[in-house]
Amino acid sequence: MPVPTESYLNEFLYSELADVVGPENVSTSQADKIAYSCDYFWIPELWIDRGCRSPEPEFVVHPRSVEEVSRICRIASNYKIPLTVWGGGSGSQGGALPLRGGIVLDTKKLNRILEIDKKSLTVTAETGIIMQHLEWALEREGFGTMHEPASIGCATLGGFLAHRGTGVLSTKYGKIEDMVMSLEAVLADGSIVNTLAVPRHASGPDLSQLFLGSEGTFGVMTKATLKIHPLPEVRRFHAFVFPDLHAGLEAGRQLMVRRLRPCVIRLYDEAETRRLIRRVLGIEKDGAYLVFGFDGDRDLVDLEMNKALAICRSFQHEDLGPDLGQDWWDHRYDFFFPNHMFRLPQAFGTLDTVATFANIENVYRAMKRVIEEQFPMARYIGHFSHWYEWGCMLYARFIIDEPPEDPHEATQLHNRVWDACLRAAMREGGLLNEHHGIGLKLGRLMRELYGPTYGVLEGIKKSLDPNNLMNPGKMGFPP
Ligand SMILES: Cc1cc2nc3c(=O)[nH]c(=O)nc-3n(C[C@H](O)[C@H](O)[C@H](O)COP(=O)(O)OP(=O)(O)OC[C@H]3O[C@@H](n4cnc5c(N)ncnc54)[C@H](O)[C@@H]3O)c2cc1C
Repeated sequence: MPVPTESYLNEFLYSELADVVGPENVSTSQADKIAYSCDYFWIPELWIDRGCRSPEPEFVVHPRSVEEVSRICRIASNYKIPLTVWGGGSGSQGGALPLRGGIVLDTKKLNRILEIDKKSLTVTAETGIIMQHLEWALEREGFGTMHEPASIGCATLGGFLAHRGTGVLSTKYGKIEDMVMSLEAVLADGSIVNTLAVPRHASGPDLSQLFLGSEGTFGVMTKATLKIHPLPEVRRFHAFVFPDLHAGLEAGRQLMVRRLRPCVIRLYDEAETRRLIRRVLGIEKDGAYLVFGFDGDRDLVDLEMNKALAICRSFQHEDLGPDLGQDWWDHRYDFFFPNHMFRLPQAFGTLDTVATFANIENVYRAMKRVIEEQFPMARYIGHFSHWYEWGCMLYARFIIDEPPEDPHEATQLHNRVWDACLRAAMREGGLLNEHHGIGLKLGRLMRELYGPTYGVLEGIKKSLDPNNLMNPGKMGFPP
């Protein structure tokens, strides 16, 4: 007699899940299992492309309320099976991959906007909402969260909360963690917790910040209240080319340390200016392309813009004017879609990191040196996207046009590039990541980043999820 490969235990699990969400909201189909085994991380894409398998879930569930999420967590906890949250699956770090099978909880049916408070300027929404849908609904009322990432059309609010994501207007309006007022989350044992209603309190630590960036390893975020802003009267841009990256960085730094409030600053290194700015905007220049913008009331924008222009003109420069700045804004998504995404067999990685102004140029150069000296098959490009009063974010990339055919060899090469580049960045004061998160991709480097302090994170994980069922294998926690 052949021995059945799947035990009837799964039938019991299926019955319990279907009892919570209805059979139409539980899937065990092979097509779904494959679809939920690959996010936007290059490794699963490559493995599936080469005919190999990526870890698959046993069940995909689509809850419609926080109560259903709570009951699903309790089932996972009773059966001691892993539960991985899935938003849009657009994450690049393998964060949503069900490494140990079990349940994938897709949040996209938790997509209601619960309240727009026009007096306090806040919005409360469920976390499975696609960010673009939230933004469109707010725009119809004359507001915006101003969180405008390039993946706005395919990623969920919960995904951004879980990875501490950022949007193109972050330099004025902040990253997602700056926008959050309060959160609701479901813990591994099914309990529903709410953080305090406003962030500026002195009633203990801010627990919202504990869940932000926790990548589904501490619980499922189900609802969030965010700040919103009136749509600006005007938004204006201006572009320059500086002779080299160093000069561009100094100009950008000046805009920030003089405490102007641009909504955007983006500076491209010489390689990206030569290739990408030329291909997308048709501007053929040597040097470093810098664009910045201001938004708000017309008179205030004029004032800040004039001050910013004076700062930039105090450096050796070529002034490209407002139109070539506006062009960048109008084409900002074209840098990704439809023709500029990397495609298999190309290997690539976004080595995004953040550091102070004192360190950021050294971080850029250290990673560049690693690629040039140790990985001659790779190219290195970079731009600086998100700027703070004290430093900025580097969106560097390595690209390998022809990685090894064998998926094992390709994975090893990919990991060696990441290890070498990020260790070089950390030696110069850069962090592992700025807005894409850690996921599976960078978990092995978390102890090096944190040192003994990583024990604090482990302690929190043990207390919230003692059986390690919530998204195991991510953020450096064991699979
Ligand atoms: C073309 C492209 C452009 C991009 N541009 C940007 C950008 O401009 N800015 C940016 O920040 N990112 C960007 N990204 C990366 C990606 O969109 C973000 O990481 C996003 O936050 C992922 O959201 P998601 O809903 O797709 O999450 P998923 O990929 O489904 O999940 C990501 C992680 O979040 C966890 N998670 C999801 N929802 C919840 C929840 N409700 N509670 C707890 N944990 C949860 C998952 O378990 C996983 O660990 C881009 C990606 C692509 C493909």
